[in-house]
Amino acid sequence: MQYVSTRGQAPALSFDQAMMTGLARDGGLYLPDSIPTLTAEQIAAFEGLSYEEVAWRVISPFTGDSFSETELRQAIATAYAGFGHVARAPLVQLAPGHHLLELFHGPTLAFKDFAMQLIGQLFQIALARSGQRITIVGATSGDTGSAAIEAFRGLANVDVFILYPHGRVSEVQRRQMTTPSESNVHALALDGHFDDCQARLKDLFNDHDFRDGVGLAGVNSINWARVLAQIVYYFSAAVSLGAPARQIDFTVPTGNFGDIFAGSIAKAMGLPIGQLVVATNQNDILHRALTTGEYRVGTVEPSISPSMDIQVSSNFERALYLAYAGDAGAIRQLMDELKSGGFTISQGALQHLREVYASGRVSEGATSAMIETIRAETGEVICPHTAVAIHVARQHLRPGVPMVSLSTAHPAKFPDAVQAALGIRPDLPPHMADLFDRPERVTQVENDAEAIKSLILERRSA
Ligand SMILES: *Cc1c(COP(=O)(O)O)cnc(C)c1O
Repeated sequence: MQYVSTRGQAPALSFDQAMMTGLARDGGLYLPDSIPTLTAEQIAAFEGLSYEEVAWRVISPFTGDSFSETELRQAIATAYAGFGHVARAPLVQLAPGHHLLELFHGPTLAFKDFAMQLIGQLFQIALARSGQRITIVGATSGDTGSAAIEAFRGLANVDVFILYPHGRVSEVQRRQMTTPSESNVHALALDGHFDDCQARLKDLFNDHDFRDGVGLAGVNSINWARVLAQIVYYFSAAVSLGAPARQIDFTVPTGNFGDIFAGSIAKAMGLPIGQLVVATNQNDILHRALTTGEYRVGTVEPSISPSMDIQVSSNFERALYLAYAGDAGAIRQLMDELKSGGFTISQGALQHLREVYASGRVSEGATSAMIETIRAETGEVICPHTAVAIHVARQHLRPGVPMVSLSTAHPAKFPDAVQAALGIRPDLPPHMADLFDRPERVTQVENDAEAIKSLILERRSA
């Protein structure tokens, strides 16, 4: 299997090359040239298997010759061994016909661990083989950064630089990034929003001399390997609830569109997903785009679900590429228009997108109220991102079709929002109980690509 860029002007790559590259050299995102399918019998056979076995069966059709069966199985086993729940992604029932998929049992308490722990293992195998040194640079709205640091801390041939928006992540998120003591970990607080972090990251990748000079590698959800790892839990959850014999709906709290895009691939592989619902907070560019066909960048309004405070949603480019039937020229045109504020999706592409995705947006007040409602109805304490999903899911319930809302983070990652809603502060799990006592290490940086480049050149352990 080959991977091709959404902008059609970068070389086709194998799975491991696409993983190590991250962003394509033409500024596009890599996608497989065809999507492998599983038969209903193959999917039905997932029933009762371990998460790791399902992961192997879903992931291996995409990896070609990049890893041997033993390597991939070992990487999957090691990736999920540190999770705090034997099911890895357990389901909890919220109401008749409505379930929560808990994706926060990994080491940094957000769903980002599912992908990051696995690519940490796969990077190590690939680097050991090539003897290469790399510099990982990531942009984060809070959760990707800690998950990447957790996956790569202390590795001899890797430096990790994480750009996060200064003052715009929760204190728990910040401390998860600034307290690791390993010298290959570098937390950078950027003076700007998450969109600025992501734009500067793309600047770094688009400077090919710098990129090649430091061996730049990207682990943001622009990295196909991350999307791939996230396909697995759609299968494990749906099969637990009766797929493929019945349809299952999913609602996904969405920012950069990586998680929900993984759901669309699960569907394309043959999983009978009915509705795939995009849930946004007040930063609702995706909901507006799917409703009106106008993808227009507004200003980011900080919210109580900060991991979704984003306007430019990188992975949406992948959905557009599929909706435009692989017309890379059309995607180049749209991305060019995006530089001056936005674009209009063609009628045909919009219709295609609406066949795959439904959407809804939630206000701050309704998010907070939903945290309270769920506590009253079930006793469960949920994070604000999860509350956004549940609110939108409730507007999309269908008789006889189970709805699964993705619970993307542990409530203790967002204690202020939970406290404001419930008057209680959720406790951090034991392995993080001393987070507030650990010393922090962070460098503040301007919203300027040259400044970031010099800092990286100076700090990396060449
Ligand atoms: C990253 C994140 C999201 C958004 O996921 P995308 O893949 O960027 O759409 C939602 N909730 C939490 C807690 C996150 O960390």
